[in-house]
Amino acid sequence: MDMQTSLLDRLFDSGLLIDTGVEGLYGRSGAFEDVIARFERLIDAYGGADGAEAMRFPPGMNRAHFETSGYMKSFPQLAGTVHSFCGGELDHMSLLQCMEVGGDWTKDQKATDIVLTPAACYPLYPTIAKRGRLPAKGGLYDLQSYCFRHEPSNDPARQQLFRMREYVCMGTQEHVTTFRQTWMDRGLEMMEKVGLDVTIDVANDPFFGRAGRMLANNQRDQNLKFELLIPVTSAAKPTACMSFNYHQDAFGAKWGLNLENGDVAHTACVGFGLERIALALFARHGLDIAAWPEAVRKTLGYRD
Ligand code: ATP
Ligand code: ZN
Ligand code: MG
Repeated sequence: MDMQTSLLDRLFDSGLLIDTGVEGLYGRSGAFEDVIARFERLIDAYGGADGAEAMRFPPGMNRAHFETSGYMKSFPQLAGTVHSFCGGELDHMSLLQCMEVGGDWTKDQKATDIVLTPAACYPLYPTIAKRGRLPAKGGLYDLQSYCFRHEPSNDPARQQLFRMREYVCMGTQEHVTTFRQTWMDRGLEMMEKVGLDVTIDVANDPFFGRAGRMLANNQRDQNLKFELLIPVTSAAKPTACMSFNYHQDAFGAKWGLNLENGDVAHTACVGFGLERIALALFARHGLDIAAWPEAVRKTLGYRD
């Protein structure tokens, strides 16, 4: 049995994660959720004084906005769309017949106006663009959403529905790259405080296909994406638990985000993988939260 299966099995056995029969789709126990809530309070303690505007979107987004985002150009393999039955009574009868004989009843489902959110920041850009030019001090937003990615896996740290907490910054190049650096420093400090071993490394997104390889190389060469890595299932191959992304003016140009002087805004986002951070804590300190090191428990606000 490999390491990954065994951590997942231990999480199931302890009840921290709940098996649904689908890889990467899990229920969470109250204790697991409480770890996430406490870690989010730690994030608030670091970012709370920055004056970010908090917004919470549901895990589905406007399909038209998803189309504009270009997600299907870069990551068609990860996307999830919401389809529904839109027929009449006759269609309903053939649907039930099809299910009865074990046929593919899903092929007649029609696309709705909703697509599953692939990253917490996606619904933000069109929302901010609609407001008009950014204020003189730029924009800073606090987001959290369940996100969907079609990447089934028996690695408990690679889920299909998971939560991302994000801060997104819009402004000049100088402004947003300083924001990104600030969160890299904070990320290292926060993870140290909860007793996790961290490294930061340059990274790239899994752009699809042969053209995608060039995009990935370019992203790496220009240091556009960094990841904060923590051992979860393997010390040799640590897991990305945070990412720090500089989009240059690509999102600004795509969405029509402009500064007060009319210049196209630069943007950056910093994402926390909330389940991954909880899993890193369980992998490092054990599945029994009461037995976690005193300093870690104190940082997370557990009473003795
Ligand atoms: P990876 O390289 O591991 O696939 P990623 O580069 O796709 O990660 P991002 O797109 O930067 O990740 O997403 C922001 C954060 O969301 C990641 O740093 C990670 O912590 C978390 N995350 C991404 N994909 C998953 C997943 N499938 N399950 C759980 N958390 C995830
Ligand atoms: Zn983002
Ligand atoms: Mg990925």
